[in-house]
Amino acid sequence: MSDESSNPNTAEATFERPPIVEFIDVEKTFAAGTKKAFTAIRDVSFTIEDRPGVGEFIALVGPSGCGKSTVLNLIQGFRDVYPPTRGEVKVRGERVTGPGRDRGMIFQRYSSFPHLTVLDNVAFGLEIDPDERLPRAEREEIARRWIERVGLGGHEEKYPHQLSGGQQQRVAIARSLVVKPRIILMDEPFSALDEPTRIDMQRLTTELWHEIEATVMIITHSLSEAVYLGDRVWMMSKNPGRIARKFQDIIPPTHDADPIEVQASREFEAALREVSQAFREIEAA
Ligand code: ADP
Repeated sequence: MSDESSNPNTAEATFERPPIVEFIDVEKTFAAGTKKAFTAIRDVSFTIEDRPGVGEFIALVGPSGCGKSTVLNLIQGFRDVYPPTRGEVKVRGERVTGPGRDRGMIFQRYSSFPHLTVLDNVAFGLEIDPDERLPRAEREEIARRWIERVGLGGHEEKYPHQLSGGQQQRVAIARSLVVKPRIILMDEPFSALDEPTRIDMQRLTTELWHEIEATVMIITHSLSEAVYLGDRVWMMSKNPGRIARKFQDIIPPTHDADPIEVQASREFEAALREVSQAFREIEAA
């Protein structure tokens, strides 16, 4: 078989690396052992294979409060969520014990330093990278390349407050990609943007994602965004949060395709209908 990715069963057998992300029977109960104990997710198990040079884009959807951010935060290793109450969260075969440079996170609210220019914000990741130790001129050159790549050329000396919401999210994307993370975690990254800006950002995301070949997990409350950006769409149910449905085969390939064109196609509409129907069922359950 020349194309192992076309058959998930053989792909499974031929991978020798540990999965890039693995959840084994994960439960997270906040305030465990107190009267306020609340189980946000339970029995969450999944495996995302490591596909260097290919990557994968997984969209995570589900009703508000079903535990989507909890899943992402556990992968990131955020202290207020980590460790899980039960089970194991592994990244590249190692138990997650905190944030790492192999994982980049992009949030809905702009996560740049307000007191640094665009250039310094983007170069920051390289500055603190103990493995890189690049001279300043080289760091700045790499940062400038990413700033250009996200469409912010000419804005290098501006501060975040001098930029629009969409531009600030571009800074956040450049900041995160400059260190070439293997895993990119995006929590509702475009929710605060107006529709045209959001479509621009979707276009940029598919372009860049192809370039960096990372594994991306994105939370979105927009099902059309999930079907457009995702290679796979995972849907969670709540109380407690679990992965209830996984969609793969029906999701049309959208790499490098224009969001507006794709989203008007029959294949896309059919996929969106199916995902929306499942979402309604999960919400009503
Ligand atoms: P989603 O991202 O799907 O909206 P979250 O993962 O943010 O859901 O939250 C899942 C549930 O866990 C929610 O009911 C939320 O209130 C609760 N929760 C999240 N973080 C905490 C926390 N640090 N302490 C207590 N409860 C929390």
